[in-house]
Amino acid sequence: MIRGIINYSHYLLGEAIHKGDTVIDATCGNGHDTVFLSKLVGETGHVFGFDIQDKAVNNTKERLSENQLTNTTIIKDSHSNFIHHISVDKLTRLGGAIFNLGYLPGSDKSIITRSESTILAIEGILSHMKQNGIVVLVVYHGHQGGEKEKEQLLRYTRLLDQKQFHVLCYGFINQKNDPPFILAIQKRN
Ligand code: SAM
Repeated sequence: MIRGIINYSHYLLGEAIHKGDTVIDATCGNGHDTVFLSKLVGETGHVFGFDIQDKAVNNTKERLSENQLTNTTIIKDSHSNFIHHISVDKLTRLGGAIFNLGYLPGSDKSIITRSESTILAIEGILSHMKQNGIVVLVVYHGHQGGEKEKEQLLRYTRLLDQKQFHVLCYGFINQKNDPPFILAIQKRN
């Protein structure tokens, strides 16, 4: 079977990220990916989750607590400031990150991810990430402002040096209503 978008994003993370790694959930939202990553890196690893909305931070903390997961730090700040929140020892173990772009489902549709901060965060993460680490972007683009972010991200990722990074685009090209797709960036060794 061909994997769906969320399933494939988790598959990619599962292949590249190991127990004991540090990972970033760059857009916590309701915390689904944070829970997934927390289980993936295990007790010796750590997840740093970022979101700019109180509601997302609270929802994520609640979901983690329901699952009794404690290897996480949830921060109300932009992912573009991630470097100020992660200690050097944890940064050296950075295995990857996920970005779920767009707006928080069931919430204010004007609070969206924007290409400027998204790209700033990706650049920082790529420069600190371990070899073979992965950044997975789930690109939702059907909302107002989404098309611009999508175009800027495609332009940015197409220009990444192929000697340093593998860049993958995965999506369903016959689906209606602007379906999300994946951009994944793996650091080559
Ligand atoms: N992965 C989430 C989940 O499992 O529910 C869904 C994430 S939702 C599509 C996108 C989130 O990105 C929103 O909660 C929004 O507040 C957040 N966001 C927007 N700009 C951000 C930024 N600069 N830094 C961190 N989070 C941001």
